[in-house]
Amino acid sequence: MSEIAQFDPTRLRADFPILDSEVRGKPLTYLDSGATAQKPASVIEAVSRYYASENANIHRGLHYLSEQATDAYESARASVANFIGVPDPDEIIFARGATEGINLVAHGFIETVLKPGDEILISHMEHHANIVPWQIAAEKTGAELKVIPVTESGEIDLKAFDELLSEKTKLLSIVHVSNALGTINPVQGMIKKAQAAGVPVLLDGCQSVPHMQVNLAELDCDFFVFSGHKLFGPTGIGVLWGKREWLEKFPPYQSGGDMIEQVDFGGTTYKTIPAKFEAGTPHIAGVIGLAAAIDYVNQLDRQAALAHEAALLKAATEALSGVDNLRVIGTAPQKASILSFVIDGIHPHDIGTFLDADGVAVRAGHHCTQPLLKRFGLPATARASFAFYNNFEDVERLANAVKKLQRFFG
Ligand code: PMP
Repeated sequence: MSEIAQFDPTRLRADFPILDSEVRGKPLTYLDSGATAQKPASVIEAVSRYYASENANIHRGLHYLSEQATDAYESARASVANFIGVPDPDEIIFARGATEGINLVAHGFIETVLKPGDEILISHMEHHANIVPWQIAAEKTGAELKVIPVTESGEIDLKAFDELLSEKTKLLSIVHVSNALGTINPVQGMIKKAQAAGVPVLLDGCQSVPHMQVNLAELDCDFFVFSGHKLFGPTGIGVLWGKREWLEKFPPYQSGGDMIEQVDFGGTTYKTIPAKFEAGTPHIAGVIGLAAAIDYVNQLDRQAALAHEAALLKAATEALSGVDNLRVIGTAPQKASILSFVIDGIHPHDIGTFLDADGVAVRAGHHCTQPLLKRFGLPATARASFAFYNNFEDVERLANAVKKLQRFFG
């Protein structure tokens, strides 16, 4: 892996083997990092090294390899805690992804908090992973799901938020950065207001951790989730952070090996956090890969990376805005490098397929935000999402392919 003193997308690209490849006979222009980010060689090597020469189960054997694997697994927990600015690694729970993290919290709320008449507050721009678990929680407990509307520019309607937050609200669960629109939500102010009303807050950080330095000590929410694969790490591994008092109050989410203290047919006792929420053999290689991804991100000049991503977004927005009949969906002033668009008369799936023929990988669909797209009267959008490893050539290839598509469809 290269030593990175200063941010340089050209040098960084060399760390990501896949970026050098061709698809359909064209150089790959990867603009789908919002769905999953590419992996640097250091992450691929860490996973491969674990399987090739360090493989053992954790917490179980007293042998050398098991001790090594346990150390690597637990030091990854400390590294995640440090990365998001929380002092206590025991509050970090490894899960399959953000989806599982939110489900775990929803389960805890079903079991310990929610009653008929209570309200759970989310926004209209949530990913399905932050809608469906709360719908189920509401159905199971008689609580009600309340939805903060989104404005025409794709921002949370803060006036409506003020009105919806009430003594009935038992949780505010919102996305930090929208995966469909790119909007960076003003979560700091929202958390303060929720806290003043005694309402805990869950932040879905899937799209924020890859694009900004998240400091939970400053944000002071109660729960935070993200997925490793969007942070240049492996799939199948994600993180739930929760304040100790909540995690201690919640019952186990899954049960079995490794989460128990004593098992007896007369009754079983559970371990304390984090083990209480990590039943069974975890995704050890995924955790090791995630730690390598965090190491990689930590050596970046993140301010410079963010500035580069902002410049890419600006250039792409300008280039596409000149295309006839093209409309950008999500025009908030504060946006991460996600650009959703539609072209009148051309289905987003056709946009995706057409661009793919030129090696340009964008996502077309509802981005797991069907209610949000309905709000804009759309079944789908095409979405280009940029990471720090993208360059201005990528923007140019995207713009050229979209212009070619325009000519093709007349
Ligand atoms: N929330 C947001 C904002 C996302 O972008 C995603 C992934 N698209 C998720 C939740 C769910 O993440 P995962 O599928 O990795 O659990």
